[in-house]
Amino acid sequence: KFNESFSTITYKTWIETAKPIQFADKTLVVEVPSKLHRDYWTQSVTPQIVEMLQEPLGYKLTILPKTPDEPNPLEAYDPAESLTSEDLKDETTSETPSKVFVKNAQLNDRYTFDTFVVGKGNQLAHAAALAVAEEPGVFYNPLFFYGGVGLGKTHLMHAIGHQMLENRPNAKVKYVTSESFANDFINSIQTKRQEEFRQEYRNVDLLLVDDIQFFADKVGTQEEFFHTFNALYDDKKQIVLSSDRLPNEIPKLQQRLVSRFKWGLSVDITPPDFETRIAILRNKAKAEHLDIPNETLSYIAGQFDSNIRELEGALMRVQAYSSMNHTTITTSLAAEALKSLNGKDHNNKLTIPTIQNKVAKYYHVTVAELKGRKRVKAIVIPRQVAMYLSRELTDSSLPRIGQEFGGKDHTTVIHAYEKITESIANDPGLEREVDELKAELQV
Ligand code: ADP
Ligand code: MG
Repeated sequence: KFNESFSTITYKTWIETAKPIQFADKTLVVEVPSKLHRDYWTQSVTPQIVEMLQEPLGYKLTILPKTPDEPNPLEAYDPAESLTSEDLKDETTSETPSKVFVKNAQLNDRYTFDTFVVGKGNQLAHAAALAVAEEPGVFYNPLFFYGGVGLGKTHLMHAIGHQMLENRPNAKVKYVTSESFANDFINSIQTKRQEEFRQEYRNVDLLLVDDIQFFADKVGTQEEFFHTFNALYDDKKQIVLSSDRLPNEIPKLQQRLVSRFKWGLSVDITPPDFETRIAILRNKAKAEHLDIPNETLSYIAGQFDSNIRELEGALMRVQAYSSMNHTTITTSLAAEALKSLNGKDHNNKLTIPTIQNKVAKYYHVTVAELKGRKRVKAIVIPRQVAMYLSRELTDSSLPRIGQEFGGKDHTTVIHAYEKITESIANDPGLEREVDELKAELQV
């Protein structure tokens, strides 16, 4: 439909040769055959198209021309979360381009509060996320999530976005990874569209910036983000950030950013305990319509204890294995599937639940008693032994071990560890028991 607005020769030379490759976040990336084309687009074609589309779209589209050799400026987006080539076709050929601009292209529909399982490691983060979604800019600004890979930081950020849009459909929500922010910024300089960049980032009600550890080393980007932050903060707009570590542990992050990030609330997300892992697996199994015995879910939950993405991946592997073999899912099938597909890595890794089971059997107590708080000797010793072995045989941190033992403080774990170390030295009977347990656990 553009051919009416351009002369035939212009159209044939400059426009027909271009192909849209990605559309996200009101931004269209167009691949053009050469640098010459790119410059022509920037100077002449882009402004005309943007103007032509502004009325029907209701906003100013950003068009980024690139040559095949240049990286896609939007690349840092998770491809699974951006639009497909089908969508892009729509964008250029259909009569109703507005159809592709369904609210916020960056939010993954699966990542909502509904699908988020709340457990010990994430309940504070979850509560803060809800508070911020309900009352943006009021409670915690910025809200800062930190924690290891695959623990639900991105999921919670998207959930905040969804919830806010549900409460206020006209709210402007923007989710980006720190890399996308950096790319957008650099691009805006290259294409002299800094004003648009600022509009885009400062005219929002909620800005979610994921994985800001990647701001390390990017001096110019940090500078720009500092101003973005200030503008939003002064306007009482909500900012939510995530990182794999605390702000002051991010190398080369400007001190003034570090201090601003501390203005609000920082919450860590720690790995889920056994019960939460089971609940996550159960939810996932239900969502995928999988029929899996509880015992098998427990088995899988016992194998993967530090990354929810891996946990979910394991479940899907088991499922794939069972359908390949046309058999129902059982624990031995799961063991087989995880062994053959995942090698030694996880299968041989000793986990705290395995230790607890073994120790409980050995001393004729229950796992619940190990996790409980009863202070009778017949339980206290096994409990301390189990904590001792967890510390010795796994690389779990002290708080993590405490968590697996019914949410005890890490000082309790230290105490148990020291107590058993000392007892072993003076009590050959206990020493033999611990050695036996160690040997059995390490076969
Ligand atoms: P992170 O951003 O911390 O690396 P993600 O948010 O990408 O982790 O989570 C990894 C995967 O685990 C996603 O598929 C996510 O949906 C899932 N997940 C994480 N935490 C939970 C939870 N509490 N309940 C359900 N699914 C979760
Ligand atoms: Mg993430």
